Amino acid sequence: MNANAAHAESDAATYKRLLGLLRPYKVVVSVTLVAMVVDSLCMTLFAKEIKPLIDKLFVVRDPHVIFWMPIIIISIFFVRSIAVYIESYGSAYVGRGVVQDMRRRIFDKYLHMPAAFFDRESSGQQISRITYTSEQVAQATTDSARTAIVDGLLVIGLVGLMLWTNWKLSLALLVMVPMIGLLVTYVSRRYRRINVTIQDVVGRVTGVVEEVVGAHREVKVFGGQDYESKRFDDVTDRTRKLNIKVAATNGLSTAFVQLAAAIALALIVFFATRPFMLNDKLTAGSFARLFMCMGGILPSLKRLTTVQANIQRGLAAAHELFTLLDAPVEHDDGKQVVERCHGDIEFRDVHLTYVGASAQALRGISLDCPRGSITALVGRSGSGKSSLVSLIPRFYEPTSGEVLLDGRPLGNYSLRSLRAQVAWVGQDVVLFDETIAKNIAYGALGGASEADIVAAAEAANAMEFIRELPDGIHSRVGEGGSLLSGGQRQRIAVARALLKNAPILVLDEATSALDTESERLIQDALARLMQNRTTLVIAHRLSTVEHADQIVVLDQGHLVERGTHAELLARGGKYAALYHLQFRDPATVAA
Ligand code: ADP
Ligand code: MG
Repeated sequence: MNANAAHAESDAATYKRLLGLLRPYKVVVSVTLVAMVVDSLCMTLFAKEIKPLIDKLFVVRDPHVIFWMPIIIISIFFVRSIAVYIESYGSAYVGRGVVQDMRRRIFDKYLHMPAAFFDRESSGQQISRITYTSEQVAQATTDSARTAIVDGLLVIGLVGLMLWTNWKLSLALLVMVPMIGLLVTYVSRRYRRINVTIQDVVGRVTGVVEEVVGAHREVKVFGGQDYESKRFDDVTDRTRKLNIKVAATNGLSTAFVQLAAAIALALIVFFATRPFMLNDKLTAGSFARLFMCMGGILPSLKRLTTVQANIQRGLAAAHELFTLLDAPVEHDDGKQVVERCHGDIEFRDVHLTYVGASAQALRGISLDCPRGSITALVGRSGSGKSSLVSLIPRFYEPTSGEVLLDGRPLGNYSLRSLRAQVAWVGQDVVLFDETIAKNIAYGALGGASEADIVAAAEAANAMEFIRELPDGIHSRVGEGGSLLSGGQRQRIAVARALLKNAPILVLDEATSALDTESERLIQDALARLMQNRTTLVIAHRLSTVEHADQIVVLDQGHLVERGTHAELLARGGKYAALYHLQFRDPATVAA
């Protein structure tokens, strides 16, 4: 099978699946289709009535027609307006429904995609699937389909009417149709090409603005104003020029269609007065009807030439979304459900290579973290500390080796049950744009009482600043927690972990972004948090891990040393070197 055939086949499959999305709207779709047929029938009927209108009303004054004609005209347009209303309402109903279905499904998919998926793709791409790509799909299923059906039927109806009225003259006129088709196709190609560039340039305008708004401090400090101003001028100027091009192309295409209509009229006049036509008794009414038909066919043809491109775009969009929907979600076939685990963690010869990475992030780590103990992980940045702890809630799966909880492989537990055992405080605490209370009692903790929330905040040393806020624990924290300082955010995260009261606790550089003062407040809270839990703590400052039950030194994914603070210092290896380095170099200590 060649590439084109394969493509056509996958297009067909995508289209079939797309039609499947319409299944829940069967009734609305059927009614809408009927309305579309009625709409184009009415227009054809109206064109048909033009002949008696002229012949019987103006040429011979037929009293019967004089009485009925206004009623007929009003009836046709009355029926048609009902049809158009149903058609618009139905398309919107189905289109919006399809968009919502798509958005829901993709959002739901995002909630269950593995961490590796989010590493690979930019958040912009992931967001635009929901905001933009879903819209494209709706366009293909409704707007373009509507044009294809209504205009398609109308063209067929009008051409039929022309042939029925006077086939010789019609054939002479219809030779023009392919010519017009070609012209319009050319114009719409050009239009599409410019449009793609516009989308791109508009994206760049947004990009420049985003950068400047986000980095306004850097722009000021490094004197970037002139540079940014020039850059912005350039992109906006390109947008302006492209927009003018679009307007010019639009004008050109309208001009073409009008010119074509004029040529059609001229041709009708020309042929109608030829001797071979005169036998056909071409009346004024037939003449007007033919002209009316031509006038109706041209704009419909113009719209029809863009339909194919729009449907193609919708198919491409649908294909992208279906590919995502078919992608595998997190493995979750463990059946084991535990209320509260014991808390023994064991790593057995764990290797990890990230998808797409060439080097191994973890190389044969074997480590015991018994229930209730504190294990500190130290090592240079990039040595694999975060990678190791991220295996515990199964954000990533080891490439080989095993992680055991209470002697059972992690994969035996259901994800929900496993993750319920783990509390996590990371380096960059991202809060939800919600109240403090909702942030502390997030997700599965949603049912917590206010007293419990306050107690957790108290234990996290967070109440002292929360009390100062206008609405106490019901104050909102802003997007990502931007209304709070780093230390305050971290204390909220600690409160959340305290409230969760899980048997396993992971602290991944939970204090590295803090000044010494806030760190002391948090250390206190953390010490409270670590009691009676199996804790894995990654700390940048070695002073904070001295009291751990065991200290593990990682280097390039290898476990190179293990022991207590005193043992490792006595050994005089890597840990001792790191330790002395920090305490000799005041910059690191303050960092
Ligand atoms: P540490 O926490 O000790 O600073 P990490 O565990 O974050 O180190 O990283 C270990 C190695 O794995 C680094 O080389 C890093 O570049 C790589 N790495 C970390 N996270 C990912 C990821 N999500 N995808 C690919 N590579 C990663
Ligand atoms: Mg890390």
